[in-house]
Amino acid sequence: MTTSIDMTTSATGTDSLQVPDFELSPELAAFRDRVREYADNHLGRAPEYDKNVEFPGDAVKAAAEAGLLCTTVAKEYGGSAMGNVASCVMLEEINKRCASTGVTISVHNSLVNSLLGKWCSDEQKRRWFPKLVTGEWLGAYCLSEAYSGSDAAALRCEAKREGDHYVMNGAKLWITTGSEAELFVVFARTGEDRVNGISAFVVEKSWEGVGVGKKERKLGLRGSPTTEIVLENVKVPADCLIAEEGVGFKIALDTLDGGRLGIASQALGIAAGSIELIRDHLASNVDAKGRPLASQADQWTLADLASELDAYRFLTWRAAVLRDRGVRCSTEAAMAKNTASRLANRAARAAVSILGQQGASGATVAERLLRDARITEIYEGATDIQRLVIARGLMS
Ligand SMILES: Cc1cc2nc3c(=O)[nH]c(=O)nc-3n(C[C@H](O)[C@H](O)[C@H](O)COP(=O)(O)OP(=O)(O)OC[C@H]3O[C@@H](n4cnc5c(N)ncnc54)[C@H](O)[C@@H]3O)c2cc1C
Repeated sequence: MTTSIDMTTSATGTDSLQVPDFELSPELAAFRDRVREYADNHLGRAPEYDKNVEFPGDAVKAAAEAGLLCTTVAKEYGGSAMGNVASCVMLEEINKRCASTGVTISVHNSLVNSLLGKWCSDEQKRRWFPKLVTGEWLGAYCLSEAYSGSDAAALRCEAKREGDHYVMNGAKLWITTGSEAELFVVFARTGEDRVNGISAFVVEKSWEGVGVGKKERKLGLRGSPTTEIVLENVKVPADCLIAEEGVGFKIALDTLDGGRLGIASQALGIAAGSIELIRDHLASNVDAKGRPLASQADQWTLADLASELDAYRFLTWRAAVLRDRGVRCSTEAAMAKNTASRLANRAARAAVSILGQQGASGATVAERLLRDARITEIYEGATDIQRLVIARGLMS
């Protein structure tokens, strides 16, 4: 299976004209079709997950059976090793239909599995991957706290070494899949230094002292449970420390580069779903001779949104190609998330406006797309933070 789009093939066959290939490889196109089939067969209940604030457990189980929870895991640990480009293609398709399922899969693959694959020892991977790649366990990423969102280094949760274990105390807030996950990657303070005093641990839900606290009531992504995770005198075995003490912040930020590609792809999916609604609505509004009655203004909106969708998809895939090649892509991933998430909001807002009462009511999915889109500009780094990351990348 190809893990990235081919960026080296020359259209002319010469070495002097190295142009990117903007088509998906046959393998990736086949994978996208497989994901579309999964979405058609298993994401039909998306409106109910939203309305009932219900976790899409059946859809996530089907995703596991379809091999969609292991795209960022190496084959030797039971994964499909398809990589970040494939994950982006997959997440756009899933999020077009159900952003609650989409974020569950994105966090599991791009925040948890990727992190464990890159930073854990062979022994640790053999301990946790068998359950994660099959979906027997879902993973959650626990960085944010009450006073630590954009300023992640302000976290206070602490892990004190006592012999062969750490004693962990603190509370993590806004944790996606918090109530459903069995494995938490937890960032905690093991030293005084603001940045170099942070370490990363694997914590299992079944351990004494680990509790699921308050569940947030949210504007969108209502099928995705976002909860507090309470850690009270949790005895974390020393062999659950990831990498070494003091590199937790570096691990958190590196992982977020990949996570932002997942959220950019989620935003692309929401934008694509919104644009399809607008297109179908305008195309169905015709005169007796079948000519479109859509106003020129609405057609311009459709044209602009569709053009931006294509542009930002390529920005996202570019960053994913870099990450698959092991090249740092913080600036490129922030560019992808910054542009795609803002597009998702504009596209969903336009869909609600153009569809009128059908857009604002539950008669179509437009209003859900708009509520879900809003959150893509907040989590895994708010829009203003992405712009800071990009500016710093450009200036450095
Ligand atoms: C649905 C949902 C799911 C989430 N899931 C997870 C999860 O699984 N794991 C996890 O760890 N966290 C999660 N989060 C938390 C998320 O990552 C934080 O909400 C995000 O980092 C922003 O932090 P904050 O909400 O505290 O906002 P703040 O940090 O208070 O920022 C609010 C606004 O202030 C501005 N701002 C803040 N700092 C700066 C700055 N330095 N420069 C310029 N402007 C600034 C920005 O405009 C920003 O939008 C989730 C959040 C949501 C909404």
